[in-house]
Amino acid sequence: MTGGMDWLGLGGRTAVVTGGGGGIGRACLEGFLAAGCNTVSLEMGAARGKALAADFPAETEAGRFLALDCDVTSPESLERAGEAVAAAFGGADILVNNAGILRPGPLAGLPLGDWKAMLAVNLEGVLLASQVFARQMAARGGGALVHVASIAASQPQPFSGAYSPGKAAVAMLSRQLAFEMAAEGIRSNVVSPGLVVTPLSAAFYADPQVRAARERHVPAGRIGTPADMAEAVLFLASARAGYVTGQEIVVDGGLSQGLMAAVPRPGYTA
Ligand code: NAD
Repeated sequence: MTGGMDWLGLGGRTAVVTGGGGGIGRACLEGFLAAGCNTVSLEMGAARGKALAADFPAETEAGRFLALDCDVTSPESLERAGEAVAAAFGGADILVNNAGILRPGPLAGLPLGDWKAMLAVNLEGVLLASQVFARQMAARGGGALVHVASIAASQPQPFSGAYSPGKAAVAMLSRQLAFEMAAEGIRSNVVSPGLVVTPLSAAFYADPQVRAARERHVPAGRIGTPADMAEAVLFLASARAGYVTGQEIVVDGGLSQGLMAAVPRPGYTA
């Protein structure tokens, strides 16, 4: 990760990460702490918060760590988290909307409850958290929103219910936020991971043959790590991306560039 240097210009900033107890969220927390940020995890369930607090010291020379119990689908819960961040650090400079869920299944016959539950976390949660923390950023002269979408935002992910539609909507929501909030010095960008092994996706990698087959589809030759995603998140959150807004960085080892390579040609096999 970024080590102790402040090339990113993140030192002393306050970064809030939703879903901080998961694979990509945790890597983001590690990255922001290493970059000298006051770092806050918003995660559901006191037990997960305790586990995080045990792993990350509350005080380091660089910055402080705070684990808050927060459900991003609840405006009240987010307001309480916002108040806690304001009390501890005066407000947020960076928000990473990373919390997400996946409920696999075909669209035909998809229960409406599953559709709504996924959009509540993956889409509405992004709007609600952005509203709470962008208010703080505006009062502090600006800030950065980074939303973790997916290559499923631009490539239909079959048998995943509302996952692709929700992620596509996040990509557009980010661009709209970028436009509406630019005058307040707030940037909004997206990181779209490809294949990453995390608790969310672990079931897809339990079978070594499936894992190997997936790896063969990735030009970079390997499945992504949470740290690969966090690197892009930190860049977009940083002063180095100070003139970048309304954009998406796809972090997929080239996976999404493979469409034409999959089309047979005479005399050539991929
Ligand atoms: P993960 O399951 O490891 O982490 C997600 C975290 O979000 C969990 O800790 C979970 O408790 C938390 N969460 C869920 N609902 C919440 C709520 N209502 N309020 C607060 N927290 C909540 O998954 P991950 O793979 O690290 O996913 C992080 C993000 O990356 C998600 O948005 C996911 O859609 C996206 N993503 C993941 C992959 C992948 O292959 N793993 C690929 C593309 C995109």
